[in-house]
Amino acid sequence: MTAEERGALPHPVTGREFPSPVPAGTGWPDDPARAETPVARDPDDVRRLAADVGLAELDARVSVCSACPRLVAWREGVAVEKRASFADQPYWGRPIPGWGDPDPSLLIVGLAPAANGGNRTGRIFTGDPSADWLFASLHRTGWAAQAASHHAGDGQRLLDARMVATVRCAPPDNKPTPAERDTCAPWIAAELALLPSVRAVVALGSFGWDGAVRSLVAAGAEAPSRKPKFAHGVELSLGAVTLIGCYHPSPHNTYTRRLTAEMTDEVFARARALTQ
Ligand code: SF4
Repeated sequence: MTAEERGALPHPVTGREFPSPVPAGTGWPDDPARAETPVARDPDDVRRLAADVGLAELDARVSVCSACPRLVAWREGVAVEKRASFADQPYWGRPIPGWGDPDPSLLIVGLAPAANGGNRTGRIFTGDPSADWLFASLHRTGWAAQAASHHAGDGQRLLDARMVATVRCAPPDNKPTPAERDTCAPWIAAELALLPSVRAVVALGSFGWDGAVRSLVAAGAEAPSRKPKFAHGVELSLGAVTLIGCYHPSPHNTYTRRLTAEMTDEVFARARALTQ
């Protein structure tokens, strides 16, 4: 069944209709790709297409990548099936590129998009309870223009900050395999190399921490002689960049108050101090 045959639904902000998953270059808010954007279909393609390219084209190529068969099937299957509460919405169903300021001081790194969050809205950390928590803190600490991030096209902006995921497709059970993680690695390594202005990196959760260290070293930072274990508030200097650990703002952590609003704000205030 083609996407068209699955039926188009209106975007919650623009009202324009899209099939799920969304074809490249058809008008989704902030879609970086065009119909002719080259598609990576295996790990060699990812390495080749991530090399020697500017940030805008890198975002475009990430957003159409199809190099991991299991993740492509999952992200597109979720986009077609849809969670019942979002049954009236089109799902992006594609990889989630980095988003925010192209010349940022702060980079926020997570593990992977959520099946019904980023995979639905097409924007990282957008459209789920983790996003609500994170953007409320980013707004309080001056890194985001609005206190919530519900949909691409909602007017939200990151201010001197950018967000990326180490793995760009929503994985089953939020767990990419090591092979999928390694296949996706050239995308974030290339992106980090294109962001020389970054001075602070906030890593969300232990997977984000490990992924951020690995990606910064792959992008050219000297490998640390000793990598501290992930903890909330722990810091690691990697060249000109300071990495800060932050508990992941998942409902599991916030409902249990393992992560409070004050703790989240402290991390982003510390990032502010490091970038001034
Ligand atoms: S996880 Fe990364 S490499 Fe794999 S299909 Fe998605 S964007 Fe491509």
